[in-house]
Amino acid sequence: MNEISNMTGVWREMDAAHHIHPFMDTGALNAEGARVITHAKGIYIYTSTGDRVIDGMSGLWNMQVGHGRPEIIEAISAQLTKLDYYNTFFKTTHPGVVELSREIAELAPPKLNRVFYTSSGSEANDTMIRIVRYYWKLRGKPEKSQFISRRLGYHGSTIGGASLSGMPWMHEQAGLPIPGMNYITPPYWWTEGGDMAPDEFGLWAANQVAEAIDRIGADNVAAVIGEPIQGAGGVIIPPANYWPAVARICRERDVLYVSDEVICGFGRTGEWWGCDYYGVEPDLIVFAKGVTSGYFPMGGVILSDEVADVISLHGGEFYHGFTYSGHPGACAAALANIKIIKDERLPERVKSDIGPYLQAKWRALGEHPLVGEARMVGLIGALELSPNKKARAAFPQPGVVGTIARDISFREGLVMRAVRDGLILAPPLVITRNEIDEAIVIVARVLDETHSECRRLGLM
Ligand code: PMP
Repeated sequence: MNEISNMTGVWREMDAAHHIHPFMDTGALNAEGARVITHAKGIYIYTSTGDRVIDGMSGLWNMQVGHGRPEIIEAISAQLTKLDYYNTFFKTTHPGVVELSREIAELAPPKLNRVFYTSSGSEANDTMIRIVRYYWKLRGKPEKSQFISRRLGYHGSTIGGASLSGMPWMHEQAGLPIPGMNYITPPYWWTEGGDMAPDEFGLWAANQVAEAIDRIGADNVAAVIGEPIQGAGGVIIPPANYWPAVARICRERDVLYVSDEVICGFGRTGEWWGCDYYGVEPDLIVFAKGVTSGYFPMGGVILSDEVADVISLHGGEFYHGFTYSGHPGACAAALANIKIIKDERLPERVKSDIGPYLQAKWRALGEHPLVGEARMVGLIGALELSPNKKARAAFPQPGVVGTIARDISFREGLVMRAVRDGLILAPPLVITRNEIDEAIVIVARVLDETHSECRRLGLM
């Protein structure tokens, strides 16, 4: 499978001439030339120059069952052969969307039983904003329209999703956020914890939610949204007491609690949902990615009975929807993917077998002189690189060392993502022990090489 294509140069040129890449400095990339990925199987991706690389990020945190699963590909093909497309707008439905909705309702926490479909996590978050504001309007409280999210939270790149995201550099380029967005300190002990023990910090960070609601006024706050574990913000794993406290604070103040499960859902943490991992029940779940393991675009919002009933019993027509809401191909992909996750017991596997196996090796990397903190839940983790771990110090120019390490990692045969000076690993949930051993050997080599490079550059 390790074929080398003599098309590489041509593809790079055409890519530079005609393709604008997402989340990329396209000018800089064009000068360097993109890596061309030609095929993939299991946990490996293959480049046009003949390299085999471990997909340590599961694509973009979405390929729970790994690449090249014939069960999903055949299910999509069979579905498209039978019913390629039909909409769900005008009094019609189809078997796939019905079956998938029941399946998701069964997997979701007990009081969440109804699903609205989109084609991405960003659209799902925009949909969530529409649902939540509409809900409060119908409840006679239209002024409850403000959202509270956390800095470094990522909720998508559409106007609504980017506005919810606590990433000011995204806002600056686009005249965002839309009105009604408020950002609070994330439960990021490494940078925000100061002298507090993690538990003490967890309650302090949760209390930021209470303070924000009280400052804005509970009468004005529609919902608090958060990822159980902040992914794109750097795999920020809150202390165990954070989410239970936040959920309680929301309940006491009559504010909806939205769990953005786009990364954490479908087994990533060793439970079906990240909110299950933290033992809390949200009012709405936003999902995408792992629902189809990336074989077909899909996202959506799962609504609590309370929210769904208000909208469907009292709302009349909801003026919102997408051509591809509940696309038959996406539904077939999701059903086949969920069947694999269930049949192979992937959440259980992550919780009690492969997760602890990887976590032990990951934590051991915390002893490396370049690593300040090694953290991981289920199969999602980060190594916080630091010039002085005792002081939890940051490098003077954030991002430089992380990028050096990420580039070394790809060259050594492992995709890791860099966020500031953190390295992220979130492999497919089907990864084996041997494959984990192979990945960890590479991570250790990456740390050694990056460490030498830091010393050479006088960074430590
Ligand atoms: N929410 C979270 C938590 C995400 O991680 C992402 C994507 N990384 C999104 C929303 C947006 O999803 P999409 O890229 O499918 O629009």
